[in-house]
Amino acid sequence: MKSLHPPSLARVYSAICPKGAHFRVVELRLSRPGMLPEIENLLRLQDADKEIRRLQDEVAELPKRVAAIERKLAGTKAGLEAAQAAVKADEATRRKYDTSISDLRGKISKYRDQSLDVKTNEQYKALLHEIQFAEKEIAATEDKILELMLNADARDKEVKAAQTKLKAETAEIEKEKIEARDRTAEDEKQLTDWRAKRDQMRAGVNEDLLRHYERVSKFRGSGISEVRDQKCMACQVMLRPQTYNEVRTGQQTLVCDSCQRVLYFNPANEMQALEPEHKRSRRHHPKIDAPQAWYYRQEYGDSGEVFLCFANAAGQASRRIFDMGTGRLIGDILIREGDFRHAFPEDITGAIRLNGNWSEKEMETWGIEMPMTALDSLHVDLEAAQYEMKSRTSAKPEKPAGVPTEQAAS
Ligand SMILES: [Zn+2]
Repeated sequence: MKSLHPPSLARVYSAICPKGAHFRVVELRLSRPGMLPEIENLLRLQDADKEIRRLQDEVAELPKRVAAIERKLAGTKAGLEAAQAAVKADEATRRKYDTSISDLRGKISKYRDQSLDVKTNEQYKALLHEIQFAEKEIAATEDKILELMLNADARDKEVKAAQTKLKAETAEIEKEKIEARDRTAEDEKQLTDWRAKRDQMRAGVNEDLLRHYERVSKFRGSGISEVRDQKCMACQVMLRPQTYNEVRTGQQTLVCDSCQRVLYFNPANEMQALEPEHKRSRRHHPKIDAPQAWYYRQEYGDSGEVFLCFANAAGQASRRIFDMGTGRLIGDILIREGDFRHAFPEDITGAIRLNGNWSEKEMETWGIEMPMTALDSLHVDLEAAQYEMKSRTSAKPEKPAGVPTEQAAS
């Protein structure tokens, strides 16, 4: 693509508007039109930084996964022990019942012997009563034993199920541990490679620029931002025309006045960005009753601009908050009872509804940062939504002056 703004024009702008008024010049350097080699190095450095961060996160995540399975395993073990203890307790009770029955039988035979020697009718009746009483007790105890025997089957099943579960979980944890160990070793190896590459890349970037990039990266998660459609894509703030032109011509390294990220321009992406402009009038509108909804807020606590994602599932609503510039997840995923509109009304009020739909499963794979494709699509839709809102307010039909209404004409 041929640059619309040749370097000479950028120089004219620079002459009219003194540098540093609305943007800071980090470095001045004459280079080929397009992208500065410094920028190319920074982009490669950013990729390396991202990969290093991803690998570090993964290495940190693996022991947590193993610990979670170990907790589950401990729960199953406790379940098995409880089932086994219940069996033992039943066996002891059974022995107690057996003893009591044989004691009662002993008593009955003693009473029968005594009944042979009784002298009075009353004495005979009293013994007979004792015998009947003992027989009743034997019958009741036998019922209890029967109940225990019936229970024993269920208890056996419980023990066997817990043993099977424990065996499966033990095998699973062994597998997970091996996988985690292998994955960690592989990640560590890759980390070493990436760190070496990063050091090489850092050597290819001017020291001041590098320091600036790293400082901004540390606070914002990324230190370099593309300029598209006259906007810093990371913070969405419009650039002044001369800043935009200077970034486009690739003559010097500039930083965004608003977010401080180093700015760069990629002609190939500008073409893509312009395309939806023609389609803006046909922006797809999100369904009001969709189970997942995305919103944009200009201000959210101390976080500034954010994207919010709500999802309804099984009578509960979840909320995720993402940094609008970096796509990083802010805080934990919050779950509340009920539909998200009723569960999080304070978050939705005044927010701009956006198009976006990713399955819960897919979002789980995002980890702490949504992928660039998702972030880009939200940015594009937000832009279209804002454009739509703007044109809706400015396109209110006005009654032409001087044209009489029907009533006045008649
Ligand atoms: Zn910015």
